[in-house]
Amino acid sequence: MFGIYLHIPFCRRRCKYCDFITYAGKEELMPGYFAALIAELRHQANKLQDLPHQVDTVFFGGGTPSLLKAEWVKDLIDCIDKEYGLVKGAEISLEANPGTLSPAFSAKLLEAGVNRLSIGVQSFIDHELALLGRIHNPSQAVEAIHSARQAGFRNISLDLMFGIPGQSLADWQANLQQALALQPEHLSLYSLILEAGTQLFDDVESGKLQPVLEDLSADMFELAMDVLVEEGFSHYEISNWSRGEAFEAQHNKIYWKNQPYLGVGAGAHSSINGLRVANTPSIEDYINKMNSVKSAENGNFPATVETLRLDAYTMQQETMMLGMRLTREGVSADAFNERYGKAILDVFPRELEHIIARKLVEWRSFPDGPHLVLTRGGILLGNQVFQEFV
Ligand code: SF4
Repeated sequence: MFGIYLHIPFCRRRCKYCDFITYAGKEELMPGYFAALIAELRHQANKLQDLPHQVDTVFFGGGTPSLLKAEWVKDLIDCIDKEYGLVKGAEISLEANPGTLSPAFSAKLLEAGVNRLSIGVQSFIDHELALLGRIHNPSQAVEAIHSARQAGFRNISLDLMFGIPGQSLADWQANLQQALALQPEHLSLYSLILEAGTQLFDDVESGKLQPVLEDLSADMFELAMDVLVEEGFSHYEISNWSRGEAFEAQHNKIYWKNQPYLGVGAGAHSSINGLRVANTPSIEDYINKMNSVKSAENGNFPATVETLRLDAYTMQQETMMLGMRLTREGVSADAFNERYGKAILDVFPRELEHIIARKLVEWRSFPDGPHLVLTRGGILLGNQVFQEFV
């Protein structure tokens, strides 16, 4: 599998908890940024050696990709198809902010080739959205989901957040119930992380807001696990649930399976053949670098500010750390062996002994042989498992 990620670092306003590479008040740079993305896609298609021949997934992430014009989204998808080749039925996802998703725009996105929308709802409770600094209100979220459905989207994912200061278990349950009533195919549920440098972090540090305690946050996660499985969802990744395998997020599975992806745009990361690269986070710098890309004999990654070559052991560690997040399928012993020429047990004997003895992971039979998978206890203490492979 091979995926392309396009980073769209524009937002109407910065949410109070956000530490992503994104900027508010720079929307006038969007036309130049769009041209720069096209330039980078073309450049990389010519320069990068040993790229997989076709693209299985495309992901427009951000930031707020739903601020792009639908024509630009179409041109970018067409460019990827022309330069790299899209497999038939490729998953093409776009992250959408409910405050920016009208019925007409949803229809245009579908026409442009987007076949999966990931809608950043976060909460259906007014004061929670206000506390997070989101630009939308609960009814806009509901309308955005209805618009997407009416436009013809058959693969809709909703993002919800738990552990919001002041949130009770009942509030969280109400959010889950409202999400379920809208019948999404996929749900991503994230615990709010208070990142230093964000307004929410400062508000909690100063005592203005009370953080949700760890125990309550764990109860919220367990409640979601129970409710969603009862409702027929499959819990296939620590933070992700889908209505069956067909609706699992294919693009994100490329990351969790440590497979190659090309990231284009300011602040985007790529992972190709053991090489990790990060593009410049500045929109202006990115546009300038891409403007000169045609004339200069730029290297493989003309907007790169950081390059890292991973050795085999680090790749193996990452494969375990990321793959163990896949709660349904875990890590296949045969696939690991085939990829690295070594058995998981030989590379990580002590680590495995430790987490198997603590009943955090177990071997399960799959049609292609044994897979190492988290137990329910391991899902709840996932970080302790992932840390074994750091
Ligand atoms: S919409 Fe998303 S990327 Fe933009 S500021 Fe809010 S959390 Fe950050």
